[in-house]
Amino acid sequence: MTDCIFCKIADGKIPADIVYQDDRVVAFRDLNPQAPLHVLVIPRQHFDTIADMAQADMALVGHMQWVGLEVARQAGVVEDGFRTVINCNADGGQSVYHLHMHVLGGRQMAWPPG
Ligand code: 5GP
Ligand code: ZN
Repeated sequence: MTDCIFCKIADGKIPADIVYQDDRVVAFRDLNPQAPLHVLVIPRQHFDTIADMAQADMALVGHMQWVGLEVARQAGVVEDGFRTVINCNADGGQSVYHLHMHVLGGRQMAWPPG
């Protein structure tokens, strides 16, 4: 996707504060953090939303969760707790249409989410 901001971050065409990357995913700090730890984990492959993935693609979501856990571990928030979130489409609150998982930690999270 040539016009996708997160594809451009994954390709290194626009800067981001990258905390982890490998051949399948990139993790970088959110521009507008909602918690002391707020990292986005994205697949290098473009999917508009999680609803655009096939069942065969879902191993990638497992890898994203693993990377999210490692990011939380690095930040030292695992014992106190953290949250991973994938927003999907308008009611889910998605604003960037390249699949991403939020990793949030470092403060008490509220439930239910807004
Ligand atoms: P969504 O609302 O789609 O689940 O989350 C999109 C997130 O991407 C938001 O938290 C927003 O702050 C973040 N974001 C949007 N544009 C950029 C950007 O160019 N760089 C970074 N690092 N984060 C961005
Ligand atoms: Zn993209």
